[in-house]
Amino acid sequence: MTENYRNRFLREVEANVEQGEWVKMCIQCGACSGSCPLGKFWDHPPQEIFMMIRAGKRREVLTTDAMWLCTSCYNCNVRCPRGLPITHIMHGLAHYAKRQGLVPANQPTAKFARKFWDNLMTKGRVNELKLGLSLPFLNGFGQGLKVAMKNQKLGMSMLKARRMNPMEILGGHAIKDLSGFQKAIKKAEELENTRVVS
Ligand code: SF4
Ligand code: SF4
Repeated sequence: MTENYRNRFLREVEANVEQGEWVKMCIQCGACSGSCPLGKFWDHPPQEIFMMIRAGKRREVLTTDAMWLCTSCYNCNVRCPRGLPITHIMHGLAHYAKRQGLVPANQPTAKFARKFWDNLMTKGRVNELKLGLSLPFLNGFGQGLKVAMKNQKLGMSMLKARRMNPMEILGGHAIKDLSGFQKAIKKAEELENTRVVS
C-alpha cells in the first residue's frame, strides 16, 4: 500500500494499537465475521471495523461497542487467510479507545475492567471475593441488592463450606512489594501514554 492510501487514522492505529500494523493486510473476505459467535450482536464485526479504519472513520470506530464484546475465543484468528491477529487488534482498539476517553457510556465490559483494575491495584492481587460481590452492583445499588438477596442461601452455603474467606471482605492481604508493583505499573502507563499520536 502506498503512503497516499494510508490515511491519518490508519497511521494512528498502526502507531498506537496493539498489532495495528496488520489492519492494512485485511482483504475483506469476511471469514472472521462469519465465524465470530458474537457477530450478530455487534454494530460492526471485525471485517467492517478494519474497513472503517482504512476509510478514516476515527470517531465511529473508537466509540463503537464492538470491540468491547470480543470474548477472545480466537475463532477469527485461526480462520483468517491473511493471518491477522484479529483478537489482539480488537482488544488493542478497546484499550486505545479507553486511553482516548471514547468508551461508550455504561459499557459493561469497560465497567468490569475498571472494577478489576481498581481491585488489583489496591493490594497487588485480585481479591476475588470483593470483586465477585461487587459485580451485581455494576448496574446500580437496587439491582445489586436484589441479586444479593436472591443468592443469600448460596453465599451462606459457601461460607459454611469454607469456599469463601470472610476476612477477604475487609481487604485481605497485600503482596510483599506493593509499592514496587504500583510504581512498575505507573511507569508502564507513562511509557504507553508517550506513544499517543494525535
Ligand atoms: S476472538 Fe473476538 S472477534 Fe474473534 S471470533 Fe472470537 S469473539 Fe469474535
Ligand atoms: S478473515 Fe482476515 S482477511 Fe478476512 S475479513 Fe477478516 S481480517 Fe480480513
